Amino acid sequence: MQQLDALIREASSLGQGELPAAVKPGQPALSANETEVSRILQICNACRYCEGFCAVFPAMTRRLEFGKADVNYLANLCHNCGACYHACQYAPPHEFAVNVPQAMAKVRGQTYSDYAWPPAFGRLYKNNGLTVALALAATLALFLALATAMHGTLFPGALAGNFYAIFPHNLMAGMFGAVFGFAVLALGMGVRRFWRDVKPGTATAPAMGEAARNALALTYLDGGHGEGCNESDDRFTLARRRFHHFTFYGFMLCFASTSVATLYHYVGALHAPYALTSLPVVLGTLGGIGLLIGPAGLLWLNLKRHPQQGDIAQRPMDRGFIALLLLTSATGLALLAGRDSGWMGLLLVLHLGVVMALFATLPYGKFAHGIYRSAALLKWNIEKRQPNRLQLGAD
Ligand code: SF4
Ligand code: SF4
Repeated sequence: MQQLDALIREASSLGQGELPAAVKPGQPALSANETEVSRILQICNACRYCEGFCAVFPAMTRRLEFGKADVNYLANLCHNCGACYHACQYAPPHEFAVNVPQAMAKVRGQTYSDYAWPPAFGRLYKNNGLTVALALAATLALFLALATAMHGTLFPGALAGNFYAIFPHNLMAGMFGAVFGFAVLALGMGVRRFWRDVKPGTATAPAMGEAARNALALTYLDGGHGEGCNESDDRFTLARRRFHHFTFYGFMLCFASTSVATLYHYVGALHAPYALTSLPVVLGTLGGIGLLIGPAGLLWLNLKRHPQQGDIAQRPMDRGFIALLLLTSATGLALLAGRDSGWMGLLLVLHLGVVMALFATLPYGKFAHGIYRSAALLKWNIEKRQPNRLQLGAD
């Protein structure tokens, strides 16, 4: 109780604009965005009204001070649902100016950049906007179109869906495997450094299982009460959760389609084109439809989102990623529809250009959110199984 009284007194002084207690000697200094999260969390730690909303608040109550690693961890545990902003009696115009989602979003963007691999590529997060995404996709498609035109295969006549008559299988597998492999490596190296800094403890099987369930079911996008997030106003909606699910499972179905086709090719010696009723085509079609509905919905939510709920400087990055997902599914479904026509060559280079741009920008765009958030969820599920030395929270 004495600790809570002390927290309330401290929150009051923080609300008057005082900075949090100085960072302990030997601890890395906080940036301006991290300092703001630390200030806000100390106010929240005295208030605790939002304790049931998501994992951020119970994780917060396990701490009395917020160093750099704590702030980065909690910022990535937040999924920007906006609920705590709409519920907060200390939100602007109150003098405490508490805006958790916005402060967390700014730190998340900085985290991606700070942990980027190679480090020099960290600044790409700031430049990876809608214009760059579309220009990259168009440039790659144009390059592939010119290359195929030089070989006379851009308009080769009806090839009955035989893509490999235009791009040999091994050439496609080599090109896309290399770019995707680099994306996996870059994201893996970045999240490895993040993981080391947040000092997660030992990952047990139950912790990993619950973290996987939280990530796959998007548990915390229900707002803690089952009614969902806040988007543009005080109303709750499950739209964000549903569109994320369409996007994620659409992406996974497309990935499964490619994996099955690879197995068919190398293990079963069954070569494309595959029938419309075959497993790779069915999985790819369902995935493509999911990747149309999900990103279209997320774009709609992004366009009408309340500006106070996030970092508007990151909107170009969000929209660039959403646009590439939408174009990937749209060009993929168009290719399926036109695969038996004379337009197949052109449709193929358009689709490949967009997919290549998507893969190339994966490690330096919004996709990083899914990776860092999953790591933060795993840390939370490890941490909550450990004794809480403060005994101040509901958990
Ligand atoms: S966001 Fe506001 S209402 Fe929620 S815990 Fe923090 S200070 Fe309290
Ligand atoms: S915005 Fe949502 S997820 Fe983030 S801290 Fe607030 S309630 Fe939790």
